Amino acid sequence: DTDLRNIEALDAHESDRIAVVTGASRGIGAAIAGRLAADGYTVAVHYRQDSAAAAGVVEKIIAAGGAAFSFAADLAAPDTGTAFWAAYDAAAGSLRDVPVRVLVNNAGIALHGTIEEFGAEDFIRQQQINTTAPFLIIQAALPRLADGGRIVNISSGATRVALPDIIGYTMTKGAIDALTLPLAQHLGSRGITVNAVVPATIDTDMNASWLRGNPDLIADIAAQNALGRIGEPDDVADVVGLLASHDARWVTGQVIDATGGYRL
Ligand code: NAD
Repeated sequence: DTDLRNIEALDAHESDRIAVVTGASRGIGAAIAGRLAADGYTVAVHYRQDSAAAAGVVEKIIAAGGAAFSFAADLAAPDTGTAFWAAYDAAAGSLRDVPVRVLVNNAGIALHGTIEEFGAEDFIRQQQINTTAPFLIIQAALPRLADGGRIVNISSGATRVALPDIIGYTMTKGAIDALTLPLAQHLGSRGITVNAVVPATIDTDMNASWLRGNPDLIADIAAQNALGRIGEPDDVADVVGLLASHDARWVTGQVIDATGGYRL
C-alpha cells in the first residue's frame, strides 16, 4: 500500500520531471534518490529485493515533501533492459508515459579476488550487473528519455590506481567510463548529457565486510584523501544532483572524480 499512496501523492505533485535511480534502496543510490527528490524530481527508486529498504527510502522522501515510488528488477537477469522498464511501467501508474528526465546507473557489486582467484561465473555476473545492465537499461530507455535529459553513470576510483584484489570490478568500472564518452557524442543531438561520477571508498554495505567497524582502516583511507576524511554517500549524491541540474547543461562526456582527492 506504500506504493499506492505514493502514486496518489505523485498525481498531486509536479510530475513532469522523473528521475530513475538504480540500486537506490541503500548506500550511495539512496542518497542520490534523496538529493534528486529534494531538487523536485519525482524519483523512481529501483531495488533488487529489499522492498522494506526501498519503501523506507520512498517514505523518507515523501516525509520531506517530495514524491517517489519504488520498483524491483534484478540486473543479473539476461533480459535486464526490457524487464527493468516493464517493472518500472507496472509501478509508475499514470506516470509511465511521462518522459524520464534523469537516469542514474548506480547499482553495482564489488567482488574481491585476484586474477588467480576469480571464478568465471562470478566474473561474468559482475560484468553483467555493473556493465551490461547499464548498457541495456540505457538502450531500452532511449525512446522514453526526455530530450534535454541526463544520464549519470557511477564509476569508481578503483580505475585510478592499481588494486589487484578487485581486478574484475575495476574492469567493469573502466567499461562504464568507456560507455560514457561515445554515448555523450551519440545523444548530444537530443540535448541529452551523459557523464560519469567517480567515488572512492565510502563506508556503505558494499564495503561492510572489510571496512565497517575498522577505525584504523577508515583513518588510513581518510589519510589518502586530500580532504582528510572518508567520503559519505551525500558527497557523491550532490555531484550527481549538480550534473542533473540546469547549471550542468554544458557538461557532457565527462568522467568526474568526487573522491575528496583520493591519492592525489
Ligand atoms: P551498496 O552495496 O550499498 O548498494 C548497491 C546497490 O546496488 C544496492 O541497492 C543493491 O541492491 C544494488 N544491486 C546490487 N546488485 C544488484 C542486482 N543484481 N540487481 C539490482 N540491483 C542490484 O553499494 P554503494 O556503495 O552504495 O554503491 C553504489 C555504486 O557506487 C556502485 O556502482 C559502486 O560500484 C559505486 N562505488 C562505490 C564505492 C564505495 O566505496 N562504496 C566507491 C566507488 C564506487
